[in-house]
Amino acid sequence: VPSNDKPQKIFSGTPISQPAIFIPVDRSPEIQEARLKLPILAEEQVIMEAIKENPVVVLCGETGSGKTTQVPQFLYEAGYGSENDIIGVTEPRRVAAVTMSQRVALEMNLPQSIVSYQIRYEGNVSNETKIKFMTDGVLLKEIQKDFLLTKYKVIIIDEAHERSVYTDILIGLLSRIVPLREKKGHPLKLIIMSATLRIEDFTENKRLFPVPPTVIKVDARQFPVTVHFNKRTPLDDYAGECYRKVCKIHRMLPPGGVLVFLTGQAEVHSLCRRLRKMFPYCGRNVYNNSKDDDSQEAMKIFKKTKPKQNLILPKIDLASYSAMPLDEGDEDREAANDEDGSESDHDLDLGDGEAEEDEKEESSLPLFVLPLYSLLAPEKQAKVFCPPPFGTRLCVVATNVAETSLTIPGIKYVVDCGKVKKRYYDKVTGVSSFRVDWTSQASANQRAGRAGRTEPGHCYRLYSSAVFADFEQFSLPEMTRRPVEDLVLQMKDLNIEKVVNFPFPSPPSTDALIAAEELLISLGALQEPPKTGRLEEIQNAKLSSPITALGRTMASFPVAPRYAKMLALGRQHECLPYVITIVAAMTVREVFEETERPAVSDEEKDLLKAKKARVLQMQKIWAGQGSALLLGDLMVMLGAVGACEYAGLFPKFCERNGLRFKAMMEIRRLRGQLTTTVNSLCPEVHLYLDPKMKPPTDSQVIYLRQIVMSGLGDHIARRIRPEELLDEKWRNAYKTALLDDPVFIHPNSVLFRQLPDFVVYQEIIETTKLYMKGVSSIEPEWIPSLLPQYCHFGNPLEEPAPFYCQESGKVKCHRPSTFYRVGWQLPAVLV
Ligand code: ADP
Ligand code: MG
Repeated sequence: VPSNDKPQKIFSGTPISQPAIFIPVDRSPEIQEARLKLPILAEEQVIMEAIKENPVVVLCGETGSGKTTQVPQFLYEAGYGSENDIIGVTEPRRVAAVTMSQRVALEMNLPQSIVSYQIRYEGNVSNETKIKFMTDGVLLKEIQKDFLLTKYKVIIIDEAHERSVYTDILIGLLSRIVPLREKKGHPLKLIIMSATLRIEDFTENKRLFPVPPTVIKVDARQFPVTVHFNKRTPLDDYAGECYRKVCKIHRMLPPGGVLVFLTGQAEVHSLCRRLRKMFPYCGRNVYNNSKDDDSQEAMKIFKKTKPKQNLILPKIDLASYSAMPLDEGDEDREAANDEDGSESDHDLDLGDGEAEEDEKEESSLPLFVLPLYSLLAPEKQAKVFCPPPFGTRLCVVATNVAETSLTIPGIKYVVDCGKVKKRYYDKVTGVSSFRVDWTSQASANQRAGRAGRTEPGHCYRLYSSAVFADFEQFSLPEMTRRPVEDLVLQMKDLNIEKVVNFPFPSPPSTDALIAAEELLISLGALQEPPKTGRLEEIQNAKLSSPITALGRTMASFPVAPRYAKMLALGRQHECLPYVITIVAAMTVREVFEETERPAVSDEEKDLLKAKKARVLQMQKIWAGQGSALLLGDLMVMLGAVGACEYAGLFPKFCERNGLRFKAMMEIRRLRGQLTTTVNSLCPEVHLYLDPKMKPPTDSQVIYLRQIVMSGLGDHIARRIRPEELLDEKWRNAYKTALLDDPVFIHPNSVLFRQLPDFVVYQEIIETTKLYMKGVSSIEPEWIPSLLPQYCHFGNPLEEPAPFYCQESGKVKCHRPSTFYRVGWQLPAVLV
């Protein structure tokens, strides 16, 4: 019997006034002891009373207080997961859904068939599942199938402070589902869990919850953290700066784990490698059996998905789809701000300009280095929770996954690069990109707080206090800073026609909603609103167009609407496997190794050039000599995937040809997923994924370009020809339908020197100029016949005159047209 001052709880979850349902849980004594140390255990009774008395409860508490691991257990013990009822928990990240389900199963001594998870590609949910962790996208798809979520008795929305768009939409939807379930006599409890930040968006939003939800705060112990700023802010090489800082900490400071925050997977791996080389662990490789972590992992995935086994795809349930790739980048978010760290402007040591040496160091203690990021295999993630081998210091190199989702024990030092990989959305083109930028003050404070969980700690910020003062206070909710066409489509698919009236916790701007609705109408996903009638009716109809059958098909694909349109059109002339590949390649970022950062040395430039030439060469070998150049970047991507799969998809092959192996793997995975979606939408297609495609025929290539154009109708650009040139700045430039300024074909494009008259582009990025990326050439006569919605047609009875057609026995005429607002003359089409 543990002797603890706190009331002893053998079966926690048994507050006095609860109905007498106690589901006993058989926990090990160690687990029970660890649980009793968590601040949330002291609040169990208060929490369970509040849940019993109220339909909606907001629970906030500092990261590590035990919300995610304990609340589902309280509910289970109180009988919320009995009979046919499931306790559902949503997480914005796949990592958290997987690790938390494993942790809770372990704590409760239950198998994973009872405490399960479901994420985009996989899961272990069974008929017996009582506690189900899932990504928010998965629950959204379930709402599309069963709006009332009848199999759930409780839904926990975890990490609500992250304000991911799916979390926000779920909260909006659940605010309506809860009263409906009440009416049905089968109440649903909603618990919103958040770090202690800005919960007013949920609690003081009358449109969302007319009756304000009950708020419970859980206090957590937090030890003081001393914050050290750098005197200078390194301009570019923050990863190198991290390396130097960790080396110093390890050599000079007393024992205690180190947690480093970087921005992405590649950076994490590269720092891990450098640190392991510098401070090897007894010469043995304890991390992996192979020297190269990455290639080992890659081989495992490769073995799992080798073509032979892939002929019959595993049936993935549609419910497991989330509508968009949810967490391929660890995005920014808000976090608690309440650690009381003192600040000092002192650097750790002898100045920060020390020359760096990468040679192995013999004298220091070994450093036990572990990576942590979203897409890391779950068993590798779990390693950070185990104590490091005796006589070593733990060093976890993480993306901002470690900021709030996961709490790593034993961290005393935090090294914060101050950067975050953020998804930016171009307001004009609407296409997103990832960029590394400064994080917010709230996030930086949350990161610092990770150092004070078990004892006083230190946080080393690799930037100056002046730079910190310029950080934004919080990051804006994702909903308000991205285009929303994909969400509008998903919501219309849920028959929410007037999206403007939807109770968003932080609504997107009306402009963003109008832009989304207009795009979806022009893609044919929504019905065209009436053009005649009373002004009021037209206005009213404007933002409430119902979804079309095509729109429903498009909504089933887990890609953005423009790409979904291409997939919907792809079932012609046996183009579908190619369209799927092109869409997969467009969705996965950075297929080619070329980085945003310009090549520094001439050597590097030459290397990139040579690799680029090889990609083209490879594409030609795969697709024959038929000039890949004329067809554009998307065909090159198709060729790269095709050639890569023929070669067997090896890391070495990719490296040699300037392709990112990870991107190629992701493309293959997405191809499998899209193939499954197509098969479940129309089983008669019987599509199967053969990673090794035959190259498309010449006529198929033309169809493919037409299909791509049909999805990118608002991304057409026309070359300003030399004879039209009025201003030098338009030399070799293109005019787009959306921008007034000249745009150019990106130097990395295969069409850079070709300059076709008409092109479509995937996105525009702004560097020194506005550049189009992902460019394909198109023929202007395709536009009026394939994209009539973007054209203004002239009077058919005007020139050229109508004529009688012998063959059809009908009067035919040529209809000239102009394109969109820009009024480009298009070739006349025969009707
Ligand atoms: P919160 O959700 O409030 O941030 P959690 O429930 O995630 O808190 O974590 C509570 C405690 O459980 C933390 O101290 C954390 O270190 C511990 N913990 C969580 N997951 C694991 C795990 N997989 N292994 C060991 N300890 C864990
Ligand atoms: Mg949590």
